[in-house]
Amino acid sequence: MPNSLQDKFRYCPAGIKLRAYAGIGVYTKFHKFRRSSGFRVREQSKHHIWVDTPDRELFITDQTMMDAPHYPEGFHTFTNLSYLHDGPSRDLDQQMVMVNYTDHMNKYDGATLRNQATLDGSIILADSGGFQLASGDYDFIDPEYEIDWLNRNVDLAMVLDIPNSAPHLMVRSAQIQKKNTDYWLAHRRHDLELVNIMHGVEEDALRYHEIVFDPAIDRLAMGGLFYLGIFPSMYNVMSGILHTNDHYKHHHVLGVTHRGAMMALMYAAKLGVSPLISVDSSSALQLSCYRTLYLYDRMEDSLRTEDIGNKGNYSTGHPRLPCSCSVCSTLVYADVFRELRGDIVDALVCMHNIHSFNHWVKHNLYLIENEPKESIKAAITSQFQSGYGPQGVKDMHALLDFVEMSAEKGVAKAKARFDRYFHSTKNIIPAKMISDQDLVKGEGCLASETAPKNDHEWTEHILNQYEIFHASEG
Ligand SMILES: [Zn+2]
Repeated sequence: MPNSLQDKFRYCPAGIKLRAYAGIGVYTKFHKFRRSSGFRVREQSKHHIWVDTPDRELFITDQTMMDAPHYPEGFHTFTNLSYLHDGPSRDLDQQMVMVNYTDHMNKYDGATLRNQATLDGSIILADSGGFQLASGDYDFIDPEYEIDWLNRNVDLAMVLDIPNSAPHLMVRSAQIQKKNTDYWLAHRRHDLELVNIMHGVEEDALRYHEIVFDPAIDRLAMGGLFYLGIFPSMYNVMSGILHTNDHYKHHHVLGVTHRGAMMALMYAAKLGVSPLISVDSSSALQLSCYRTLYLYDRMEDSLRTEDIGNKGNYSTGHPRLPCSCSVCSTLVYADVFRELRGDIVDALVCMHNIHSFNHWVKHNLYLIENEPKESIKAAITSQFQSGYGPQGVKDMHALLDFVEMSAEKGVAKAKARFDRYFHSTKNIIPAKMISDQDLVKGEGCLASETAPKNDHEWTEHILNQYEIFHASEG
């Protein structure tokens, strides 16, 4: 169905590490009779683990991309659980997946994602590594090596930016970003599309955009900036979209882990402020690190979570995983997770979480497309009341009105009308709601979106490196 909201909004899971380009596959041997032996590891190595369960044996391997997969003796079926394989990709209903170049640079020489993948219509988007530069992980990412990797591996690529929060360095950062972009435009594969990036807030963002603008690029990404608070953040996103939508066919908002903000952006897509709005989020991955399953049951309409490490959640016997995704329907028993290595559990739980999250997004897109605003607000109340409280829900209702007024009358008027939400701490959605971490207990294993480090010396050091690179390119 062309022009439906499903085509105007994309959720893109981020931080997906494609283990050795292989992902994970599971061979299954079924037993006719249920045995009482429970769970036992029969055999394991660096690349496989063979587990007994009450009614089947599972042989889990990370070698799934071989030309002719070798069936272990006597096994009946094989399920590929690689993100880049057709079956799981269709099962996940995954239209876009985001990889980060820094997870792949200097590794796996020769192999390419695209050659190995059999993806059916799903798009691989690459994050450039700019965030990792700003975070202090690297002081230089070679544009020459990166464009070579991007040419071989992905469909869409974020340009190589140098994010920072120092007002006096913004112009230099923008100029370096533009030089990196020019270099990539000259060296890219003919059908590799670039996504430009806009940094800064309010007028600074528009000035930044003037410097980095290139007419050959018709997709634009901007930071979610949720550390500013939800209204200032949404103001900035709406301002960025509305000031540039005469040129771009696609706007991408980076790092949207707040599901209320995600619904507001779905609503913005419905109002047609951009032909396509996409967002990326690492929530699915973050929760996998907490050993937490996102469960989405349409009957309840809200996402809930279940801790797979806590046997107290289950009644007696061997509890079955309460989900029909390819991971859960292959492993069948929750206890299997306890037998597996941590990185395999992360990958499998993450894949399950993406499945749940995709269904949550799809369901809400359907609702937002087909229902009037009052019904959408009622749905927000029923989904978020228990987690965010009555005030949080009221603020999210106001956020929809703010988005609508921005689209109809411009961001300046909308900001004036909703001014108190920008200043009154009482009415701003509390900071802890900025991520989904309030759904789960304990500390995250990944950093959620935070303000960039105000380390001007570090930023200047990075900028110097790129100035030397571009001077030598002459
Ligand atoms: Zn599942």
